[in-house]
Amino acid sequence: ATVYLNGEYLPAEQAKVSVFDRGFLFGDGVYEVIPVYQGHCFELEGHLARLQRSLDGVRINNPLTDVEWSEMIQTLIDRNGGGDQAVYLQVTRGVAPRDHLFPANATPSVFVMSNPMQPIPDAFKAQGIKCITLPDIRWQRCDIKAITLLANSLLKQQAHEQGAQEALLIKDGHLTEGAASNAYIVKNGVIYTPEKNAEVLPGITRDVVLRLAEQAGIELHQQMITEAELHDADEIWISSSTREMLPVTLLDDHPVGNGQPGPVWQRLITLYQHLKQEQNLG
Ligand code: PLP
Repeated sequence: ATVYLNGEYLPAEQAKVSVFDRGFLFGDGVYEVIPVYQGHCFELEGHLARLQRSLDGVRINNPLTDVEWSEMIQTLIDRNGGGDQAVYLQVTRGVAPRDHLFPANATPSVFVMSNPMQPIPDAFKAQGIKCITLPDIRWQRCDIKAITLLANSLLKQQAHEQGAQEALLIKDGHLTEGAASNAYIVKNGVIYTPEKNAEVLPGITRDVVLRLAEQAGIELHQQMITEAELHDADEIWISSSTREMLPVTLLDDHPVGNGQPGPVWQRLITLYQHLKQEQNLG
């Protein structure tokens, strides 16, 4: 595969970064994952806007303009053969002698790769996925898409070891999000998702889901969801760029609703697939 590193397109095995990179030493950087369908980025503007927001949040200057990002990302997708891919990009504060304080004049490091999109197993959509609830052990700026993912990794691994595809995180008695996804419930036909605040990542797929629900005239509230409401939901779903929208049919070993993917999820995933098609044609 071809990757992009600090201005150059290289074979992946030739791309090397310094051991003094602050991404390596401190996890001092931010990232994005952008889905690509039939060679076209999905919701690129949203991802670049969130990248800017994350960079501002950690005070790293954006090394590229949005036009430069778009062109470079498209070049990388094309060089990797188009089709359905997932672009991963990260920006770190750069290479400097190890010191907690920001270096005076480091140049941000930019690394971008694009790999074939991992297909979503049919069974996840047909039967739904299993989730477990776990305490949200992450930091207090989960709205920043930081590369520092140790807590998320521990949570996801714990879920995996219990046969679950995702961990739904509980903080002070309420739902925040998944270890790598945003979360939603449906009760009596109404959708609820936690509001945007420092406890959740402002998901780009979440923005899409909200837009689609509004267009479809489905009532949706962005508000706190208690642990009790989560366990009493008719439907639960998660969303992310690589997993789109998946229904959760088993939570902590109890069926969610009637144990089948629900009608509101069904309606929105259909609209989501249409939108993917439209963006590719447009
Ligand atoms: N929340 C967390 C913690 C994530 O890591 C992700 C993405 O992987 C999401 C939410 C979903 O965000 P997006 O829809 O932009 O992929």
